[in-house]
Amino acid sequence: MGVYEKMSLIVMKFGGTSVKDAERVRNVAGIVTDSYKKDNSVVVVVSAQGDTTDDLIEKAAEITAHPTNREMDMLLASGEQISASLLAMCIQDMGYPAISLTGWQAGFLTSSAHSSARIRNVYPDRIRREIDQKKIVVVCGFQGVSRYDDITTLGRGGSDTSAVAIAAAMHADLCQIYTDVEGVFTADPRKVPNAKKLDEISYDEMLELATLGAQVLNNRSVEMAKKYNIELEVLSSYTKVPGTIVKEKVKMEKMLISGVAKDTDVARLSITCIPDRPGMVFKRFSKLAARNINVDVILQSVGRDGTKDIAFTVAQNKGAEAKEICEKFADTVGAESVDYDDDIAKVSIVGAGMESHAGVAAKMFEALYDKQINIRMISTSEIKVSVIINKDDADRAVSAIHEKFFPTDN
Ligand code: ADP
Ligand code: ASP
Ligand code: MG
Repeated sequence: MGVYEKMSLIVMKFGGTSVKDAERVRNVAGIVTDSYKKDNSVVVVVSAQGDTTDDLIEKAAEITAHPTNREMDMLLASGEQISASLLAMCIQDMGYPAISLTGWQAGFLTSSAHSSARIRNVYPDRIRREIDQKKIVVVCGFQGVSRYDDITTLGRGGSDTSAVAIAAAMHADLCQIYTDVEGVFTADPRKVPNAKKLDEISYDEMLELATLGAQVLNNRSVEMAKKYNIELEVLSSYTKVPGTIVKEKVKMEKMLISGVAKDTDVARLSITCIPDRPGMVFKRFSKLAARNINVDVILQSVGRDGTKDIAFTVAQNKGAEAKEICEKFADTVGAESVDYDDDIAKVSIVGAGMESHAGVAAKMFEALYDKQINIRMISTSEIKVSVIINKDDADRAVSAIHEKFFPTDN
């Protein structure tokens, strides 16, 4: 029996800003040891310090324009090793037992899709042994090992997922995601100063918000938390105030919407004058799917003179490849032209409340009209409405929509 079974097992994750320099590392060590002093077992997951991951990507770019994903993973995983070892040293220096572990030492077995690996399993035996010896265990987030013994990383923002995976594998009592804001807000609080902090949010709404651009939590981490029913608390490492609880069912009366999100990682392709006959959509999208390109918002015109136009969006880093596929397709079927535009953004509202209330989309469109912002595409689901607009309009659009749903004088 592990000793931690008598007390609480807490997983705490600290993002890049929270460990960016010696002073912030000391602050984190304080939070961690405060919890340890209360007889809790503590597993800490850390991200790389500050902008380290971006800096490492730049270093690779100085060497080659085409680094292999395997070597990129080898490089990027080093960032988390720096912060984990520094934090462990700092805790030891304060007089408490601590040990840092890499992702693979901590038992993270992943797929071999370098730079966007999926966690296949976590074998936390080593973490358990260290905890049984009363140590605070500091784990490098964002990384694991494939079955070929190669170092992998989980994709940007992946440390959140590392934390949730440990919490699931070890049946932790609490999983706290410490960051540089006080929780999940109705919009990015750095862009919309009057955004409100949510006390609670459901997994489904958080998953949509995260997928639609609210990077406060990585969307895969929310997916995993929902799957294993791990309650998350998103809170600040700077202030000691309660954060936002992410869980299955929220007690609060359903708000109309829970937030506004922006994503600028979007590119739009449009193909004009495609022959109007069966199979055209299938042929084009199956070619994109074969190259692992996800298509998001799709718009097809009613058609005239035996032809139709179609426009759709993809992630920007897939834009050039998608364009090439569309140009070949256009040539083959005799379509007129292919147009590419990545000067666009996707702005979305998310809320379980819109399922039972009419007029939510209209209210969003009115906010855009008030600011004379042109909508280029629209997509909806039960709990979200997204619009594609010009990138230059995106911040204004988020503020206007937020103001419409959460007026300042309320
Ligand atoms: P960390 O390094 O701790 O993982 P991130 O930078 O990944 O932190 O995520 C935190 C940031 O997410 C905040 O600084 C904030 O600017 C941004 N953010 C975007 N949308 C939201 C939102 N709805 N609520 C809170 N923060 C948000
Ligand atoms: N350091 C990685 C990144 O910058 C992982 C993370 O921060 O979660 O994306
Ligand atoms: Mg993050």
